[in-house]
Amino acid sequence: MIMEEEVLWKPLGLKLISFKKLEDGEIVGTGFLNPVLDRFSLFTMLYFQAKFYKQYSDLAQWNGKMVSNTFAPPVGSRPQFRALKALVKSHIFRVSFPLVMTFAVTYKCQCRCPHCSAAHHVRSNIEELSTEEAKRLIDESLDLGISVIAFTGGGPLVRKDIFELISYVNKRKAICHLFTNGLLLNDENVQKLADAGLYSLFLSLDSPYPEEHNRMRGVPGLFEKGVEGLQKLKSKGIFVALSSYATRSGTVKGIYKKMYEFAQKIGVQNLVLFDNVPTGAMMRDTSEMLTKDQREEIIDYTTNIFNQRMKPTLSSQAWQNSIEGYLGGIGCVAGCIQYYVSAYGEVTPCDFTPLSFGSIREEPLKKIWKRMRSHPAYKHRSQFCRMQHPKFRHAYIDPIPNDATLPFSVDKLPRVDFRKILKRPPLLRRKYEYLNNIYRKKTERESQSSSYQKALLQLCALSLVRSCWDISPLSETAQFAST
Ligand code: SF4
Repeated sequence: MIMEEEVLWKPLGLKLISFKKLEDGEIVGTGFLNPVLDRFSLFTMLYFQAKFYKQYSDLAQWNGKMVSNTFAPPVGSRPQFRALKALVKSHIFRVSFPLVMTFAVTYKCQCRCPHCSAAHHVRSNIEELSTEEAKRLIDESLDLGISVIAFTGGGPLVRKDIFELISYVNKRKAICHLFTNGLLLNDENVQKLADAGLYSLFLSLDSPYPEEHNRMRGVPGLFEKGVEGLQKLKSKGIFVALSSYATRSGTVKGIYKKMYEFAQKIGVQNLVLFDNVPTGAMMRDTSEMLTKDQREEIIDYTTNIFNQRMKPTLSSQAWQNSIEGYLGGIGCVAGCIQYYVSAYGEVTPCDFTPLSFGSIREEPLKKIWKRMRSHPAYKHRSQFCRMQHPKFRHAYIDPIPNDATLPFSVDKLPRVDFRKILKRPPLLRRKYEYLNNIYRKKTERESQSSSYQKALLQLCALSLVRSCWDISPLSETAQFAST
């Protein structure tokens, strides 16, 4: 269903650049020049990025270079040139080169979160990647052209060689981030992180209220230790940020605003606000996903912070998946400029997508990346988060068996372009409504007809609808689910 249209350029009443937002979150270009705009998206991206850098030109400095976004390399640094080179190459050759790798170095963790995104990933029969394997992964990733490595987990600081891995990354090629629960941010570890050349650290918070956060993570004092650790990191010159997420029930209460106010209060440089993405332990539960109106609310809030040049910067996933975010070269980055590697070496499109495209223990990373890029679900740019897209979930997430270990092999699922599935349900719905109408009118006319005749009509209508579903690509999915 079409919800609203945003017209960006309409000279002489001619709609040249415009977009429509659909109910399911998808954004489609409707203007006369939209296809051309897609072709030249590099320029819109550079325009929006330049606007961002101008707005936050005084955010921070790193080795004398300007930093406007602690998620991205400093302006004029070699990692930034590598990122630009990869983007230009991607646009000229119409082949995607990745910029970011998220690497879950371990799934061991001190917390017991009921909402853990890494739940169901742990395997008792396989060892996690060794130091040598992890270093080979870093080498292969740098050869592939990435300029940002985000170390995550589990609890990455639980892994003893994490400092060795961070220092192994050639800082002339890539910057390093670390996502942590903050429990191990003691003096010794903070010094080791600084010595290893860490660029920025993201403290994961579920709530701006200490008791609530500690209760959700099952560790008393965790909130306080994490926040204290941030101050130690700041004194060593490491950028600090908060990483949180917006749920449907929390957004009703304005929790994301409280989180921003808290980020301001403790003086971090950035707040990353993810949408609630149903994955890991909550993979089947979509009840806390943001509504369309809530996403719009967060987009407006983010835009307002940006326009007023407020600090910290707010990087919200809702904005990332907005029209401006798409024009600014973001949108869904899974398998486009980003990939994720599990602690066992499995490669997936992003942290939240539990689909494996292969293991670096079995084949080169480059080959796996090419396979991901040529898959019908990842060949195109998607403006909207695939993991929140109902049709993507229907085709790729719902068929994953309940007892499966994640990430699940994508080869065991049908190769379908989920966008093409989009058109079928409305057609089916129309057919179903049409049949229902005939049935209703008929029953009104023949109020005296026997229950046997009614049942027969119902049966006919249902078999027709069933036969329509059987020709849909989803029938393959259904077959898989039953095996
Ligand atoms: S599917 Fe895309 S938008 Fe959604 S979490 Fe992954 S990268 Fe982000």
